[in-house]
Amino acid sequence: MKHLEVHNPATGELIERLPADDSASVAAKAARARSAQAAWAARPLAARRSCIDGFRAGVVRELDALAVIMTRETGKPLQMSRNELNGLLGRIDFFLAQTEAAVRTETVFEEGGMTEQIEHTPLGLVANISAWNYPWFVGGNVFLPALLTGNAVLYKPSEYAAMSGLAMARLLHQAGVPTDIFIALIGGAEVGAALLSQPIDGMFFTGSHATGQRIAQALSSRMIRLQLELGGKDPTYVCDDANPVTAAESLADGAMYNTGQSCCSVERIYVHEKIHDAFVEAFVKSVQGMRRGDPMDAATYIGAITRAPQLDVLDAQVADAQALGARLLCGGRRGPGPGNWYEPTVFIDVDHRMTLMREESFGPVIGIQKVGSDEEALRLMNDTRYGLTAGVYTPDQARARTLLAQINAGSVYWNCCDRVSPRLPWSGHGDSGVGLTLSTYGIQTFTRPKAWHLRQP
Ligand code: NAD
Repeated sequence: MKHLEVHNPATGELIERLPADDSASVAAKAARARSAQAAWAARPLAARRSCIDGFRAGVVRELDALAVIMTRETGKPLQMSRNELNGLLGRIDFFLAQTEAAVRTETVFEEGGMTEQIEHTPLGLVANISAWNYPWFVGGNVFLPALLTGNAVLYKPSEYAAMSGLAMARLLHQAGVPTDIFIALIGGAEVGAALLSQPIDGMFFTGSHATGQRIAQALSSRMIRLQLELGGKDPTYVCDDANPVTAAESLADGAMYNTGQSCCSVERIYVHEKIHDAFVEAFVKSVQGMRRGDPMDAATYIGAITRAPQLDVLDAQVADAQALGARLLCGGRRGPGPGNWYEPTVFIDVDHRMTLMREESFGPVIGIQKVGSDEEALRLMNDTRYGLTAGVYTPDQARARTLLAQINAGSVYWNCCDRVSPRLPWSGHGDSGVGLTLSTYGIQTFTRPKAWHLRQP
């Protein structure tokens, strides 16, 4: 049997060898899930809800231990692992409260013996290929509403968060979700690729643009729902009337939280020339105050880089920016090993010739560019193939609204950043993806509307 070796990115040590799937076991699991799905869908919603409620209770009960697992396999600082699990509880509550109304059969017309109704039927067998950076969030955004709406789920956690994925499966099963209705698949790209050829009714992917594109190509001849939640190069503009210190503190957190490994991390900052220098000074001070070190220490803010190959991406962006004239204010190199470490890095005097300002960094590296006007900031913010989030800092809401209305992104922020709400749809424009999760739309997306035309005899 094949195994997946799990290493702690903060130390490099081997922490687990998990039995892994291969194409035969993926096919067998898909067949099991498909044949079990109809019975799950036939259960009343209240029964499915009580399973998810039980899962929630399991997360609460084991929260500290689950946070330790996540931190050991991803290098995420322990307090941030706890924050993620606590945040998950709010998302579960949202799904538990909203599913019934979101998928209730609607009567949209009734006249002269004719009735028209919309029924929301489950897709059937749903595949979820997931990322490691927020494994409970991005997994839960898919499998919780998918299960609640009557689907069976084949869940492939990232190979960098497989232990957390197995914990999700265990807690769901303990809470009463049948073992054939939620099935974890363990392994890397080859296991994800094997999943693509199964008779699935929907593919819900979270990960990089490159992999998303491969998946879209592989599924191009299949008439199934395809959702892709991909990367971003999320910009923020700090206007001349913003408080440079509070904006800098907020944006330093937005750029460096989870060691910059968030899909909605602040990845580019444009600051009006009038407050640029004050902003930069406060930003660097804030970054230099961030505590780095052992992710298992609850006081640590900057943890490890989860995937070793990302260190090469960061090195290349730093070298490219320096070669093109950017000024390095702090960091700019790897931290000492063992394990994968990168120093929080701040550049000024950057521009869009640099990959640092164009391609996702997905690490603790940020460029701050000086701008002379709102028009220039707007042009630069929209100068990207991505479109996940964007923000504006100013006390003037009307100014922020005018700017953000012209931004091509799925989520926009006024005086905040790096924020996701279960009540709002989470979606990307452009190369940041297609489809959405969260909000009531992110419940309905696991269903197909069926149109009923009913004439009384
Ligand atoms: P990744 O693309 O390397 O891997 C994602 C998943 O795809 C993993 O489970 C992996 O095993 C699987 N995979 C890899 N190759 C495959 C293939 N050929 N066929 C099928 N499956 C395959 O991404 P990652 O490093 O896990 O995640 C980081 C990326 O995810 C970043 O770009 C980040 O911005 C993005 N992300 C986006 C969101 C969002 O909501 N938009 C959320 C979190 C992360």
